[in-house]
Amino acid sequence: MKGTWRQRAACRGIDPDVFYPAPDEEGEEAKAVCDVCPVRQLCLEHALAHREREGVWGGLNERERRRLVRQRRKTA
Ligand code: SF4
Repeated sequence: MKGTWRQRAACRGIDPDVFYPAPDEEGEEAKAVCDVCPVRQLCLEHALAHREREGVWGGLNERERRRLVRQRRKTA
């Protein structure tokens, strides 16, 4: 793991499985952690920049990130 923002991540020490929910799950448990995370925006931008396909990053699951990418393309 690189990047100092990770050291401030609210998910540090939490079972990573929480952040990789089954495909039919929304990842609500992970999102609740992201909700109070001080580096949420940095985490989300990292996931988008690195095209992370799986898991909850920055409070968004993969489906929600794809939607955000589409929205940004439209408004770019
Ligand atoms: S936003 Fe969520 S996944 Fe990202 S560092 Fe914070 S708690 Fe972890």
